[in-house]
Amino acid sequence: MVKRRFGVSIDSRISAELDNIAKNLNMDRSKIVEIALQNYITEHKHLSSKHNCRGIVIMKTISSVPFDKILEDYRSIIVNYLHSHIENECICIVFVSGDSEHISNLNRCLITCGCLIRYLPLH
Ligand SMILES: [Zn+2]
Ligand SMILES: [Zn+2]
Repeated sequence: MVKRRFGVSIDSRISAELDNIAKNLNMDRSKIVEIALQNYITEHKHLSSKHNCRGIVIMKTISSVPFDKILEDYRSIIVNYLHSHIENECICIVFVSGDSEHISNLNRCLITCGCLIRYLPLH
C-alpha cells in the first residue's frame, strides 16, 4: 500500500492517549491512526447513503421482546444469529446482509422494543 505523509494537529490529551495505546499495543502511531481513520470512514460511508450493507448487531435483549417475530419479519436480511446467556442476561449476535435502510429499520425496531444494541458495519 502506498503511504502518504501529512501533518495534523490534535489535542495534546488525545496525543498523549495515542502514545499510551501505541506503547501498550507495541504498534507505531501511524498504524493506530490509520486503523482509527479506516473505522471512521467505514462508519461515515455507512451512515451517509443507502447501500448494500453487511455487519453484525450485538444486543442485550429483555424477555418481553418478541424476538421470534422480529427474526421472521426481517428474515430477508438476517443471515444467522447466536443467542447466549451471560450472567442471566440474553445476549444475541445477529449477522445481517442486505439493504442498509432495511438493516436500520431492524435496529430501530430492536431499540424501540427496549433492547440495548450496537451495530457494527463490516464493509
Ligand atoms: Zn453499511
Ligand atoms: Zn435468552
